[in-house]
Amino acid sequence: MTGKRGKDKIKRCALCGGEMYEGITTIPFLIGEKVVVIKDVPAEICSDCGEAYMKSSVVDKVESVLDKLEELHSEMSVVHYEVA
Ligand SMILES: [Zn+2]
Repeated sequence: MTGKRGKDKIKRCALCGGEMYEGITTIPFLIGEKVVVIKDVPAEICSDCGEAYMKSSVVDKVESVLDKLEELHSEMSVVHYEVA
């Protein structure tokens, strides 16, 4: 016996309870009247409803990217997470 391997390793979607998997996704952000689309964001994605959850380290980076872009006057920006 090796003890029980809990099912609690599987993360569940807070919205629908579906299984989460690690992947990359494209997330649009609305800042005031500007739209910033960040591509290739690492996230945990729900296999049922598609909701994406970012880890806190990813959120930190995304926020710094959004801060930088706030100074731009373009109404819509598309950036890649890795190079941002
Ligand atoms: Zn879900």
